[in-house]
Amino acid sequence: MMGIDMAMAAAIYMSMVLVAIGAMWWRSPDNGPRGEDAVTAAQIRQCPYCAHVIINPAKLEIIRCPVCQSYMEEERHA
Ligand SMILES: [Zn+2]
Repeated sequence: MMGIDMAMAAAIYMSMVLVAIGAMWWRSPDNGPRGEDAVTAAQIRQCPYCAHVIINPAKLEIIRCPVCQSYMEEERHA
């Protein structure tokens, strides 16, 4: 009697764990890209001299290209 109840409880517990893992695995592709939304389009600049793409997280006024060492002014589109 007790052994059967424990086996049933274990089976129900295992099925719940499997459902929870399945739900987490199924939702994981939705959660992935959201972390990259922190970099907005305004922070991405392309060097006009060597076409090197620079991500400017600090939103600096002047950015220096790490490839050709040229300075770029932050463009303000009002
Ligand atoms: Zn450059």
